Amino acid sequence: MISQTRSGSGITVAVVGAGGNIGSHLVPHLGRCDGLSGVILVDPDHYTVANLRTQAFPGVDVGQTKADVQARRLRNINPHLDVTSIPEEIERLPWGRLSADILLSCVDSRATRLYMNLVACRLNLPWIDAGVGGNANLARVTVLAPGAGRPCFECSWDERDYAAVESRYSCNHANEDGSTAAVSTSSLGAAVAALQIFELERWLGGGDALGTELVIDLKSRNFFPSRLDFNPSCRMSHESIEIERIEHSPEELSVNAALVKLGDDIDAPLNETWLRVTRSWFATQLTCVECGHVRQELLLAASLTDDDLRCQVCGERTVPAGIDRIDTSHPDPVLNSSLADAGLRSGDVVTVGTQAKEKHYELA
Ligand SMILES: [Zn+2]
Ligand SMILES: [Zn+2]
Repeated sequence: MISQTRSGSGITVAVVGAGGNIGSHLVPHLGRCDGLSGVILVDPDHYTVANLRTQAFPGVDVGQTKADVQARRLRNINPHLDVTSIPEEIERLPWGRLSADILLSCVDSRATRLYMNLVACRLNLPWIDAGVGGNANLARVTVLAPGAGRPCFECSWDERDYAAVESRYSCNHANEDGSTAAVSTSSLGAAVAALQIFELERWLGGGDALGTELVIDLKSRNFFPSRLDFNPSCRMSHESIEIERIEHSPEELSVNAALVKLGDDIDAPLNETWLRVTRSWFATQLTCVECGHVRQELLLAASLTDDDLRCQVCGERTVPAGIDRIDTSHPDPVLNSSLADAGLRSGDVVTVGTQAKEKHYELA
């Protein structure tokens, strides 16, 4: 699904966090960058008045989704680019929607970076990650092309990094809404965005993304370039997956039909065949934190809405628990429901397999 050539005019870039402190400064440069034909902009947030201080967007667009606003800016700068706006969290997105040649990320949470590392490894995508830190004076750009023997984002991680996975960079200011998501200055965001574009242009020009990191302390004017090392005991498997596109949509296939049809494709005995989805596990049980009521479900956890998560007895919050894989041991109502009913969407990548073998399919 992914072309690796950098000659000609077919390069598509996917930007995750496209409307924030770094992303909003980055996007206009993409419109002026030679060698790009497509840009996918992913950002779930909406612009607020507070964002006007640190992010690049017109004030009339307060209240609009960041992805849509930046897509419009980009089309105005370069009407020849194929621009796709996706106002969603990357963690909820079917992997087929990320059919790009390279990922650029401008996100503010380690948990999201961890997830992006999984996506980059499995889809064999080069990845340029940008971040800020250190009282709004550190700019960082990391260039990676994970693979066998090549460093990934987690190769340099130790226990403390994993423990801090929920924390966010640059929490030195609180936002107007009281949240502590990364807030850096407009100038720092713009500086990091420019560095990220330099690295993209280096890659577009044929440079290899072997694993480098550049950190600049803009207050002390020090810069720290480094080469990242592959770690043989890295927690992340660096293996990429081959994905076959199929004609069937999640509406057309029942869980059982998917197990039969795709299991047959790999000659797997039906009673040993399982199915999972690359982006999420399945919630099978929702337990109310207030009244203890338990509801049985089969819904992709990443597809659960606030409504799904509300207790049907008392209206309080429920906690989902579930499984990675589904198989023919599930009751008939589950097996006969469609993949769409189970929360799968067009572009979702499903893995069908047995203990011995597995294969990956992208749903139409
Ligand atoms: Zn690694
Ligand atoms: Zn309840």
